[in-house]
Amino acid sequence: MIILRNATIISGDGGAPAPGSVIMLNGGRIESVGAEADGYSANGADIVIDLKGRYVMPGFIDAHVHFGGADCLDYPGIGDRLETYDFLRSRVEALRWGVTTVRSAGDFTPDIFDFRDSVDFGAQNSPRIIAAGRMIQARGGHPIYTVFGSNEKIAAGATVIVDDATDLGFEVKRLADEGADWIKAVISEVDKLDYPRPVPRLSNGQIRQVADTAHKLGKPCMIHVDNVRHMREAAEAGADSIEHILSVGATETEIEDSLIELLAEEQIYVVPTVFSIFAHENPAGKRPLVYETLVRQVNKLIRAGVNIGVGSDSNIPFVSIGESLHEELAHLVKCGMTPVEAITAATSGNAKLLRKENELGAIKKGFLADLVVVDGDPTADISRTKDIRLVMVNGRIVYSGAL
Ligand SMILES: [Zn+2]
Repeated sequence: MIILRNATIISGDGGAPAPGSVIMLNGGRIESVGAEADGYSANGADIVIDLKGRYVMPGFIDAHVHFGGADCLDYPGIGDRLETYDFLRSRVEALRWGVTTVRSAGDFTPDIFDFRDSVDFGAQNSPRIIAAGRMIQARGGHPIYTVFGSNEKIAAGATVIVDDATDLGFEVKRLADEGADWIKAVISEVDKLDYPRPVPRLSNGQIRQVADTAHKLGKPCMIHVDNVRHMREAAEAGADSIEHILSVGATETEIEDSLIELLAEEQIYVVPTVFSIFAHENPAGKRPLVYETLVRQVNKLIRAGVNIGVGSDSNIPFVSIGESLHEELAHLVKCGMTPVEAITAATSGNAKLLRKENELGAIKKGFLADLVVVDGDPTADISRTKDIRLVMVNGRIVYSGAL
């Protein structure tokens, strides 16, 4: 048993920080949470850690990462891949920044499923992984034929390339059989590297077939979009989460009230990846700027109470894994969330998005002991989430700084 005493708890469910708290951990889970003033017994404790009043939050969940990186350099090794350094940089950096769960939104497959399983088995120092595996995209379209320069290795390993002859029902079932936790498909119709050159896209009928098949198989569906029209198409097709909202060069940018109503009614999550857009915009370039517009759209969603997921899109260029989750929190505050709301969205909110709200994302009895300790009050200043002193996954210390 591990006891964390003298803790100020930010529980992840939206409540105010609770100073003078004690958390008892046992067998990788939270055994109890209480006030120090009520007394507690340290009998049987293996270790008692005095947190000196520092702030403890549930481990952060990043709802949108590419764990293996954005290019083929990070292609996992062949053979004995679980004993190599595969994904090493991603897992070390994620843990160091307090990211204890990630949703992989497209990675080499079956590698990411094998790796996820070895993490669940306890064989890796890593954030836990929830994975979509191969992304479903149109032949000639984004991302393989735009940002990845038609790279055959990535096309074969990380995507399902769709044309008119593709049996989508078969492809979605195959992904589910291979072990996909989510099914991901892409709506995109311009080349981001050669804007505004049009590229082929999945039709609305194809998106609907992907979502319907996924749901029949008990899998939720995430859809990449580049503008507000795509967002509506994704919502109407049955998406469970909509990724990005606006991309570089987007022209259809204003979310109408009727779309907000649909998102709220269907309880669809929107994962706006605000920081990744900020990081990619070149104010001196020729492309229209979407960042400011995106901030206004996200603000509308926040005010309307639409579920917002916190995702970084990390390991794409300029968006490093781990640290970028904290950048996303800061940008969501810029979009109108309070710091507590941003922290809640990245913990219990993301846990709900990932259907893990009964064991992740809150500091509660019986929940998995994924915890982050920071110095300074992040509910007063969101940048304090970056001053990380201790990170635990399943009750194991995976990173420690100066306490
Ligand atoms: Zn992505």
